[in-house]
Amino acid sequence: MAKVLILGGGFAGVVAAERLAEQLGDEHQITLVSRSRQFVFYPALVRLAFGKAELADVSFDLRHTLLNRRVNFIEAEVAYIDPFERNITMAHGQVEGKLPYDYLVFALGRRLATERISGFYEHAHHLLNVDKAISFGKAVKKFHEGQAVIGQCAGARLPVPVYETAFALARRLEEKGDTERARITVVSPTTLESEITDPVGAAALKKALDAHQIEFLPNFNIDSLKQNSAITKSGDAINFDLLMLVPPFRGSSAASYVGITDQEGYIHVDSTMRVSGLERIYAVGDCTSFDGPKMGHMAVRQAEIAATNLAAEIDGRERVSHYQHEMRFVLDEIGSGSLYLHKDFSTDEPARVRQGRFWSWAKRVQEKYWEVSHL
Ligand SMILES: Cc1cc2nc3c(=O)[nH]c(=O)nc-3n(C[C@H](O)[C@H](O)[C@H](O)COP(=O)(O)OP(=O)(O)OC[C@H]3O[C@@H](n4cnc5c(N)ncnc54)[C@H](O)[C@@H]3O)c2cc1C
Repeated sequence: MAKVLILGGGFAGVVAAERLAEQLGDEHQITLVSRSRQFVFYPALVRLAFGKAELADVSFDLRHTLLNRRVNFIEAEVAYIDPFERNITMAHGQVEGKLPYDYLVFALGRRLATERISGFYEHAHHLLNVDKAISFGKAVKKFHEGQAVIGQCAGARLPVPVYETAFALARRLEEKGDTERARITVVSPTTLESEITDPVGAAALKKALDAHQIEFLPNFNIDSLKQNSAITKSGDAINFDLLMLVPPFRGSSAASYVGITDQEGYIHVDSTMRVSGLERIYAVGDCTSFDGPKMGHMAVRQAEIAATNLAAEIDGRERVSHYQHEMRFVLDEIGSGSLYLHKDFSTDEPARVRQGRFWSWAKRVQEKYWEVSHL
């Protein structure tokens, strides 16, 4: 009998647990530990902020779903892991203390390093959790004139909600007849090409931004915030009446000090999703060290690969499933022509870019599928 412990109740952890439950015999024990029993469907948070999705559409209680799939759930904060003694230490939750394992799947996502931007807490909105999305939504409702600034800080690695927010705001201003009185600027610490990781995708996005009169300001690396003003290291400033900023990301602190992370705290894995240099530990999702944006579909794919390989390892078979890093996203809220982009990072080929109503519909269908299969 093997004790398998999965850390994190996001896309990566939930999919890893589900796939392991399908592939492992009943004699093995699967337990998932997460700080909250609520699963959050992050891609719907922009729509929540703009009043186009209900709270019930974006989160659900994990416990019943997991128990139906014979996965035990523990609500607790993971403080750190000890891969040598094979246990984890939990704090502030249902259970405190050490929990041993035979095999571990690390899926704790990324940490918001807001402390790196002075004034972030006091002056910026973001929408990276349900409460913050609701509070940003309230600010949007009051915004009728002036300057809106939307963007990412260096190290944020999440362009989709930035552009979806800019387009959703532009459409709202059009609907309310406020377009002439308000201006939207998207700020980026780099260029559009490096943010989207592809010149073809960047060109399509720039065209859509121009069509909605959204200004794009590249190489604007925000270092600090004051009331109504965002300032770069070199002293350039932009004033704002409304600010939505994705803060820098860093890897989970529960994995630090074990010697398995890169400089930003993300975990090194091999193509089977096993943690490089360690036995019996896999890592999946936003917590892993890969180039480019961090996205839900990557987390799901990595979790499937890890589960298949871990099930094989437990059964004494060879690990034959390999992860290939690629990026797919739908930029919604553009209006009649949502943007779909697919980039395979293993080739030098340009991204495949498509535009049309279909992609918005496809994103909604995917969301519904996820919701229905987990209620
Ligand atoms: C607003 C927004 C829009 C997005 N839009 C898209 C999109 O359109 N398409 C797309 O593909 N991706 C999108 N993403 C990205 C996607 O949501 C993430 O890549 C995905 O959630 C990563 O899954 P994960 O399981 O690795 O991490 P997470 O979803 O962050 O899950 C980590 C889990 O671990 C738990 N946890 C963390 N630390 C601890 C701890 N110390 N102890 C216990 N539990 C802990 C957390 O509570 C959480 O349950 C979006 C993200 C946001 C925020």
